[in-house]
Formats: sequence, structure tokens, C-alpha cells
Amino acid sequence: KEAEMDQMRAHFISNVSHELRTPVTVLRSYIDTLYNYGNEFDYETQKEFIGTINQEIIRLNRMVNDILDFSRLESNMKIEKTLNNISQLVDDCVNQVSVLTKDNNVQIKITKDDNIPEFLFNYDSIERALTNLLSNAIKYSPENNNVDISIRANDETFKIAIHDNGIGIDKKYHGKIFAKFVQLDSAYTKKESSTGLGLTITKELVELHEGKISLVSEVNNGSTFIVEIPF
Ligand code: ADP
Repeated sequence: KEAEMDQMRAHFISNVSHELRTPVTVLRSYIDTLYNYGNEFDYETQKEFIGTINQEIIRLNRMVNDILDFSRLESNMKIEKTLNNISQLVDDCVNQVSVLTKDNNVQIKITKDDNIPEFLFNYDSIERALTNLLSNAIKYSPENNNVDISIRANDETFKIAIHDNGIGIDKKYHGKIFAKFVQLDSAYTKKESSTGLGLTITKELVELHEGKISLVSEVNNGSTFIVEIPF
């Protein structure tokens, strides 16, 4: 089992290195062209180049953050929980993905129970977990569609479901999708270079709160990711 894990880890590192190299290559060629021949292009073309450079830097930054967060979690990161308001947090997450919602023309609808009490959790961790789920839901949704967030609470647990009407996820991947060092076949759904660490990090952050995450999804029939955390 250990040898199998080592092999998966090695395979994963080589994949991620490849994913990191892609934006760096794009950045080098765009910057090189601008540096050497910039004045041969009109202002609009130069701006377009800089727009691409900016997007690649955002992508690279996201991947580096994934790797750093993952390695922190692997070294048994401790989190501090403070009394926080979950509705406020969901609003912050929606604000964070507003560029993505505009770019994809997706509307986010929130339904929530009244009077959800404040409870002890680590704000940054849960914000990171929900933002991951929300950005995936937007990324894999068709344009002009809805992503629904529902927030429910009973006496013991708080439950948040993020539902999209997108491409869905084949049942054969459900067991693998949160696992460490596992990436789905890139031909299957991947839209852009990424580490495949997003859902692994999300699951680990939820588990640091004694919570659990589950998935209901079928191909071409949308996906719902459900996070449950005890109060
Ligand atoms: P990454 O960090 O590479 O985006 P994630 O761990 O967040 O990876 O997601 C892993 C894979 O799961 C994605 O590449 C995609 O194939 C699939 N996936 C995640 N969320 C959704 C969703 N809402 N709808 C369809 N596929 C999804």
C-alpha cells in the first residue's frame, strides 16, 4: 500500500510540475514578445497581451496557493476556531467569485434558514472550502445558468449545499474526487491547467471541523456538493 502511495505521489508531482510549467511558458513568450517587439503593436494588441499575462499570473498564483495550503494540511496544520457568522461568510464567498460569475454569466441564488446561530469555526478555512466549491460550480456550469446555495441548520448541524446545473460528474469518479494525489482524466472535464488539489483541500478543511462533505451528481445532470458541520 505504501509503495502504491509513493507511486501515486510521484505521478502527481510530475503532473503538477507540468501544469505549473504551462503558464510559465505562456508568460515567457508573451513577455518576451512585448519586451522585444512591443512598439510594433498597436495599443489595443499590447493591452490584449497584458490581459493574457494577467490571467496566467492569476492561474499560477492559484496553483501555488493550492500547493502551499495542501502542504500545510499535510504537516498537521492547527486551526483556531472563533465565534463566526456563516451567512456573512457565504456573502463574502459570493463576493470573491463575482468576477467568475460575470465572466460566465452565471447567477447565484441563496436560500437560507432564518436565525442560524453563530458558531465556532475557522473563518479562513471554511471560506476557502466554500469558495473552492462555488468556483467549481460556476466553472462547470453552462452560461446564463443558476448556481444555488442553500444554508440549513438544525439543533446539531449546519448544512450547506452548492448546486449547479452543469456537466455533472460520472459516478465512477465519486470515490476518487476528494482523494489525495488523484486527478481525473484531463480529457474528461478539465478546462484549464490546475493542480486537482482543490477538492482534497476542501475535504481536509471541512474535516478539521469534524464535518463531512458529500457529492450527488450524474453526467449531464448537474452536481450538488454538500458540506455538513456540527455546531
Ligand atoms: P482543481 O483544483 O484542479 O480545479 P478540484 O479538486 O477542485 O480540482 O476538482 C477536481 C475535478 O473535479 C475537476 O477537474 C473537475 O473535473 C471535477 N469537478 C469539480 N467540481 C465540479 C463540478 N461542480 N461539476 C463538474 N465537475 C467538477
